Amino acid sequence: MKKVYNFNAGPAMLPVEVMEKAQVEFRDYENSGMSVMEISHRGKTFQKILDTAEENLRKLLNIPSNYLVAFLPGGATLQFSSIPLNLLQKEEIGAYSLTGVWAVKAEKEARNLGYKTTIVFDGKEKNYTEIPNLKEELLPENAKYLYITSNNTIYGTRYSQFPKCKKIPLIADMTSELLSRKILVEDFGYIFAGAQKNIGPAGLTIGIIRKELLEIPKKHVPILLDFKVYFESKSLYNTPPTYLIYISGLVFEWCLQRGGLEKIQKTNEEKANLLYKFLDSSKLYYAPVQGENRSIMNVVFHLKDKTFEEKFILESEKEGLIGLKGHRDAGGMRASIYNAMPIEGVIQLIQFMKAFEERYYK
Ligand code: PMP
Repeated sequence: MKKVYNFNAGPAMLPVEVMEKAQVEFRDYENSGMSVMEISHRGKTFQKILDTAEENLRKLLNIPSNYLVAFLPGGATLQFSSIPLNLLQKEEIGAYSLTGVWAVKAEKEARNLGYKTTIVFDGKEKNYTEIPNLKEELLPENAKYLYITSNNTIYGTRYSQFPKCKKIPLIADMTSELLSRKILVEDFGYIFAGAQKNIGPAGLTIGIIRKELLEIPKKHVPILLDFKVYFESKSLYNTPPTYLIYISGLVFEWCLQRGGLEKIQKTNEEKANLLYKFLDSSKLYYAPVQGENRSIMNVVFHLKDKTFEEKFILESEKEGLIGLKGHRDAGGMRASIYNAMPIEGVIQLIQFMKAFEERYYK
């Protein structure tokens, strides 16, 4: 099999050990003579997969008992609609911090659905290279939640510290960083994350909600967007994406086997620091984001001489370093180094970048 390091932003690489286990179990799950894809979602075998996945996710994130977990269908984008539909009444306001396109889309969707919003930060002018220091006291009085994108996949920024919200719930899109570092779930009202970066295959979203938010009065919400229906039925209102939940469960086990989030965070910081240190010392490359809000998951960088960009991509791919082209909105390059990327992959990338610089840019 061809050996590559996959730096794609998502769908992204999964741990090798997870893929191998899934391969072994593919046709015959635990001697059942069936694949996980073929078993009933109402049967004991799948119930165990679902319960174990939730239990392990709770362990990893230390999720308190007043929070419910759901494995939601659809991508993270579906949450942009669910959030105002479930948490706002028509006259109320959702406060949004626009640190990138994903937050912009979430805010726009709330407005398109007829809700009022307020923008508490807009990073557009600085190409979304900055993260604000948000204070709950400064939000409009009638704001019912504060919405953030905790890690900005496209621009390589993240909140190194989260805003502290005591009165209203903090809602966080953690799609590109959930399980990459320790967080205090209690600081949030609702956390959601599309699976396709750090968790599993695309099409599944993890939701973690403070129970009391399910009691917010609302009009009829389309059934599969209704948090109460979804969370209270424990992801089993209808047929859930069973195989995606199974793979995610294997990833949670893998995270626990590696010593949990403290260890994983340390490794992630080590990987990101290596890369940023190299970028900061280079004459050819530079990182547009500075300081503590640099993402440890998505490292964005540019080549000072743009004429080398195409050659950089071609040559990196030849060396098995895949997916380094940046998002079209940010330009340049991006190395996504999620949990599954081993440190050897980052070292190989740096070696390639160094050699490329020496070869063409003296
Ligand atoms: N939020 C963030 C932070 C993302 O990075 C992405 C996808 N890259 C999304 C939301 C949208 O996810 P999906 O494609 O699963 O709807």
